[in-house]
Amino acid sequence: MLIETREAIRFPHPEPPPPGEAIEIAPGVLWARFPLPFRLDHVNIYLIEEDQGWAAIDTGIALDDTRAAWERLLAGPLRGRPLTRIVATHFHPDHMGLVGWLTERFAAPLHMPRTEFLYALAIQNSAIAANRPFFEERGLPPDAIERVTHQGFGYLRLVSGLPTQNHRIMAGDRLDIGDHRLEVLTGGGHAPEQAMLDAREAGLFFAADQVMTKISPNISVQAMEPDADPLAEYLGSLAALRRTVPDDVLVLPGHHLPFQGLHTRIAELVDHHEQRCAAILDSCRQAPRTATELVPVVFRRALDPHQMGFAFGEVVAHVNYMLHLGELTQHRGADGVLRVAG
Ligand SMILES: [Zn+2]
Repeated sequence: MLIETREAIRFPHPEPPPPGEAIEIAPGVLWARFPLPFRLDHVNIYLIEEDQGWAAIDTGIALDDTRAAWERLLAGPLRGRPLTRIVATHFHPDHMGLVGWLTERFAAPLHMPRTEFLYALAIQNSAIAANRPFFEERGLPPDAIERVTHQGFGYLRLVSGLPTQNHRIMAGDRLDIGDHRLEVLTGGGHAPEQAMLDAREAGLFFAADQVMTKISPNISVQAMEPDADPLAEYLGSLAALRRTVPDDVLVLPGHHLPFQGLHTRIAELVDHHEQRCAAILDSCRQAPRTATELVPVVFRRALDPHQMGFAFGEVVAHVNYMLHLGELTQHRGADGVLRVAG
């Protein structure tokens, strides 16, 4: 099984470009990579050349290293030509952190799915008040809540603001950029309405974070929607991708290497979530568990506060998925804490 998998996934560009440099993926299409200060230490962005300059797909995070890499990229591989527009795939800071900086600098329009733009706005405007009860009633101790909410949620430090206007893109839209025609697809799970771009004629599929090799995108329940079922949305999106995007495209993901073997990777991701569900179900059949108690069932290594926020949300996503399927039940104890049983 593993050997088959390795053969079915191929990496035509095995060496990523250093920050400030770029690799030409296809005529007029560049792949660049910027650093991130996390365990996942980089993000990919893509540029497509058109008459007046370059359209950027994602921007990197709003930190000085990324700004410096952008300067080198603009002066070098982009030959001093301006950005014409920014397509931001989703609201996460590693992808749209520099939207404010870049749209202002180049007077370039932002294209983003509506929900992603509104989510980014909502996070900028709302406090993190929803977090405390969300973690509390799932059994996280007070000192851990403090660490997760204060150190783990650095969103506002990692984005450079937003323009006042968004030019909405939605599923089925077509973007003509230079010689390329790109169809917009959207999918939930990792983010509410993440944009992907299907450049069918060029054999390219800009997958954002929906399908990557090496890592499975974080699928998390957020405190402001505690009953959400993002795992069902994600699995539905993967099934739709398998139906609509051919297996032989070159996938251009938000992290890690471009690859071929989309359908194989989708099958692996589905399998990964089924295994996590099975582990949670098994544990909950032994005794009712809080989400906090289920974190080490799924994540065996020690987690820093940034990872703990993601891990907790991911566990709740699997719990909610199985609650909706009727495989688990949830009860609130006399202590006010929610426990799930299998
Ligand atoms: Zn990402």
